[in-house]
Parts: sequence; structure tokens; C-alpha cells
Amino acid sequence: MKIGLITLGCPKNVVDSEVLKGQLTGKDVAFVSNPEQADAIIINTCAFILPAREEAVDTILEAVELKKNGKLREIFVTGCLPQIYINELKDEIPEVDRFFSEKDFQWIGRQIAASLNIQPGGNGLYRFHETPAHYAYLKISDGCDNRCHYCTIPLIKGKYRSRPSQQILAEAHQLVNQGVKELIIVAQDTTYYGWDIGDRGALKKLIQELAKIDHIRWIRILYAHPAHFDNDLIEVFQTQPKLCRYIDLPIQHISDKILSAMGRKVTERETRALIQRLRSKIPDIAIRTTIMVGYPGENDNDFNLLKEFVTEIEFDRLGIFKFIAEHGTPAENLPDQIDEALKEDRLQELAELQLTISYNKNQQLVGKTLPVIVDQKDQKVDNYLGRSQFDSPLIDNTIHIKGDVYEGEIYDVIINRTDAYDLWGEALSRTKK
Ligand code: SF4
Repeated sequence: MKIGLITLGCPKNVVDSEVLKGQLTGKDVAFVSNPEQADAIIINTCAFILPAREEAVDTILEAVELKKNGKLREIFVTGCLPQIYINELKDEIPEVDRFFSEKDFQWIGRQIAASLNIQPGGNGLYRFHETPAHYAYLKISDGCDNRCHYCTIPLIKGKYRSRPSQQILAEAHQLVNQGVKELIIVAQDTTYYGWDIGDRGALKKLIQELAKIDHIRWIRILYAHPAHFDNDLIEVFQTQPKLCRYIDLPIQHISDKILSAMGRKVTERETRALIQRLRSKIPDIAIRTTIMVGYPGENDNDFNLLKEFVTEIEFDRLGIFKFIAEHGTPAENLPDQIDEALKEDRLQELAELQLTISYNKNQQLVGKTLPVIVDQKDQKVDNYLGRSQFDSPLIDNTIHIKGDVYEGEIYDVIINRTDAYDLWGEALSRTKK
């Protein structure tokens, strides 16, 4: 039985797909990357914003075409899209054999295996690793209690549920046995980990336990909500060398008026104080943030505040998004929606600003030596591509490495030249443990 598993959306979906693959892996199954070769296709969808939903529906329809014309026998759809639109999808796309919603997740593998008449594979914890062998996303919770007014995630995923730390640690050990050296902690809100069960120190304890695992070299935190970032976590950065000097801290805006309208539970003063604390206590930390432009009611004054803040803070990494009025969210029907062209202008203005900031920061690295993990061979030239501890895979800077290196190993690399988002350097030696 040849199965094609298509994953759309964020790293949290990558983890779910890896678990699902683990549940199905068995002697009767081969996974194929070309859908045209598949006997069955599973599509793990994202529904966060309209373009993601459109992509999900297009992907399902492409599979339906294959089923009509080719050898494809069955189509299964899981993830966020059926979680909110299962009835509509069943009516509109009857060619899909089964839609699974969130509550089915634990059992999807078994149910698909039964439907395909194959033996189910692993025990539900085993992950079939989809990312390069040396790094893996580690999902520590699901759902979100924040209810930011523009966001569909709480509607799709429900309330925050921390995973038991023992389960996460067991999974981390298993990933290490598969060759993982870098763990990337993900959740809708990683700094809220444990708060739903009354344990506010849970993230600190978890990182300390993960760091004890022998072959783990780097631990990285994504999606750290500023409202839940406490001093204990700063202390872990100061004392735990395996924790990358990198934090993904989505602030979304800086105008108090907009932050409050977004329901972000944090003010300009608190955001400034946190960034100041991070930079003074962990001087080499790289701060990544995401910002949303064009929220309803964002006037020139709000946008100028944001621009001045980006200029002043000089974030090390910056993602910029335009507000999209999502169905079912409180922001959907707010007055003073912003014209699309103005949103685009604001996005471009910030992107240009960040281009200069990023270029200048990278220039300061010329002549310096950084530990760099080798992600893959560059298919175009005789180089390898990697990242420093200040960069997450796929979203941050890439380092082009010359030299005799192996994928998945960490080397000291001297940086020779840079532009705004790429750096070039030469490997000197493999770093010690
Ligand atoms: S923190 Fe806000 S933006 Fe992020 S998933 Fe939760 S509700 Fe959505």
C-alpha cells in the first residue's frame, strides 16, 4: 500500500503528520512523495487564514481529480479545516472517503489502517521524522486560551492543553535515538505551558530536563507570548548553554490602542520592559518577532508608533503579516477596516526598514566565527546550507558553508560576507560537545 501524506501549514501540523505516519508505519506501507503514485492520500490541512483554507481545498480537489482519473483509491482529510467545516466539506466534496476532526486525532492512524485493510503501525508516540534527521519540532501543548480577537486558532483547537512532561520527554528521547540534535519547542503559546494546570514553572523544568538528554545540542523556543514570559525563563537562558540564545516573541503591534483592540493582554510599557530585560540579562540573544499591519482602526499615528519602535528596537528577525478579517472572530466585523492597498504599503514600508536593519546586523558578523548546524547540501552550487543558533529553520537567515562538512553536524564557521538574509562562510572545525 503506497500512501501519500501531504502536510499543509505550520510546524505544529508537521508534528501531527509525523505522529500519524508513525501510527501507520508498518510492513504493508510505503510512503510516497508523488501523489500520482499513491493508492491513498492523507491531507493534513491548515485553516488559520483564508489563503490557507483555499490552499487546503485546492489540494483536496487535486486529489479528487487523481481519484477520478488514476489509481488513487482513497482520500482522507484531517487537521484544522475539517475541525471547523466538517459538515460543509462532507456535502461539497463527497469524493473524500473520510474527514477527521481534532477529537479523532489519537485514533486516526488506526481508523485509516482499518479502512485500508492494513496493519496499524506504532503505539501513537512513535514519530516518523519528516524534517531533516538532526532537528525536530517538539509540540508541548495544543489549543490556546488567549483568544486574540483576530485569531481563529482557539475556535479551531479549543482551550490550551499542556501535554504531560513525561510524555514529552519520552518523545524527545525517541527523537534523539533517531539522530535529532536540535529540539524546537512549539505550541500556540509556549510560555503558557503548565499554566492551564496551575504549574507556572513547567516550561523552565521541562527545558532543564530536556537539556539533560545527552545528544541534544540545541533547544530552541518558538511562539513565546510576551504576556506569559516570566523571569524564571530568563534565568534558564543564563544558566543553560543548550538553550539557543534566540527567542521568537510575537508582539503583533506596539500601539496600546491596537494591542488592546487585538486582545493581546500586554501593553507597550510591558513589551518594552520585557525586551529591555531580555537584552540586558542575555546580551547575545537574537529576538525574532511578528507584527501585524492593517488591524481595524490602525491609523497613521498607530502605524508611525510601530515604525518608530521597529527602528528603535532593531529586531534581529522580523515577520510581517497583513490583518485578514477571519470569519467568526471578534475582529471580523470591527469598524474602520483598512484598505488592502494601504495594508500592503505599510507591510512594504516595514519590510524595507527591516532589510536595512538585517543587512547592518549581518555585516557586523563578518570576520566572526559562529557555531553552525549543517542542514543540507545546496543543490545549485558546491556548498552546504546551515544555520547559527540565532536562526530557526525555514524562517530565518541561511548560512552558505564552504568546506568539508557533514549534514547534521555543528561546525565553527568563519563568516566572510553577508547580505540582508544570507551569510557566506568557511567551516573551520567541528564543534566539541
Ligand atoms: S496567542 Fe493569540 S494569535 Fe496565537 S494562537 Fe493564541 S489566540 Fe491565536
